[in-house]
Amino acid sequence: MILYDNHNRPLTYLRLSVTDRCNLRCFYCMPAEGIDWLPKSQLLSFEEIIRIVQLLAQLGIRKLRITGGEPFVRKDIMKLLDKLINLPGINEVHITTNGVLTAPFVRELKQMGIASVNLSLDTLDEKRFAAITHRNEFSKVMQTFEQLLSQSIPVKINAVVMEGKNEADIYSLIELTRNHPVSVRFIEEMPFNGSGAHYAQLNWNHKKILSHIRTAYPELQKLPDTPGSTAAMYHITGFTGTIGIIAAFSRTFCGSCNRIRITAQGMLKTCLYDDGVLNIRDLMRAGKSDTEVVAELLKAFTSRPRNGFEAEEKRKAIPVHESMSTIGG
Ligand code: SAM
Ligand code: SF4
Repeated sequence: MILYDNHNRPLTYLRLSVTDRCNLRCFYCMPAEGIDWLPKSQLLSFEEIIRIVQLLAQLGIRKLRITGGEPFVRKDIMKLLDKLINLPGINEVHITTNGVLTAPFVRELKQMGIASVNLSLDTLDEKRFAAITHRNEFSKVMQTFEQLLSQSIPVKINAVVMEGKNEADIYSLIELTRNHPVSVRFIEEMPFNGSGAHYAQLNWNHKKILSHIRTAYPELQKLPDTPGSTAAMYHITGFTGTIGIIAAFSRTFCGSCNRIRITAQGMLKTCLYDDGVLNIRDLMRAGKSDTEVVAELLKAFTSRPRNGFEAEEKRKAIPVHESMSTIGG
């Protein structure tokens, strides 16, 4: 079965946040003092997560990304991953992590059959890492990176480009692609920092990131677009890895968006920029049958906003005070 939304876009990809808690405090994601963590009882239980994924797999979801908060702060996350990887219909399970607690689990992730790991790393400078994340955990993240390479797990580095904070890191992160089979993706900063602070305009947008890269690497080649991918991909001749630019604030990719999100408290988002369209956890806790939950899900997919701008306009909560750690990125 293939599920289509009201704009005829196939929905095949689910991003699910397993917790809003985190052991870093990246300033673009949450304030230094953290956010009000959800009570544990409000988080989806493992049983609820598995039930939702099973239902969505029956509807055509094939790719799953586990995210957070930081997935590895959730107790027994490896047990959950093992179950999800083995669910019928789910072809690929990926995970996004900050890498602080991940290194000891990398070998097991490989054995389980994880499809890839996205590692968030905005700088290769230890001091800047501490300034951005408010924690001194750089060496642990680098250990995770090394482990991922040594286990040959496909790895993407996610780097948010932040004005006045890490422009100097763009070139050093690109240098990782010279000899490593890694994809380094530069992400426009989005307004989900948990504090309601917003840019009217984003200076470091995808165009500026691209022209900055071209200045130092004029041989940059554009790679063909992959359907449903949010990243415009590039390659530097002679380099092993690839480079991506994700226009997450400019929202240039909505026309082929194949993804839905479920937040840590079980809220379905049919667009990153909406404020949640259906609380699946509440339906399940109210004792709804699988058929009833599926009917609600199908209804939600018939009113997906055309793009992130339309979703933002329809939000009830403006300005956005959400943290990306609740949404999952
Ligand atoms: N804690 C994990 C991590 O950092 O990889 C997973 C959750 S984190 C919310 C997922 C991704 O969202 C990370 O790559 C992070 O850089 C990105 N992110 C968080 N806040 C963002 C923002 N305001 N703008 C752009 N990307 C953001
Ligand atoms: Fe934590 Fe990830 Fe948010 Fe950083 S981006 S504070 S690591 S959830």
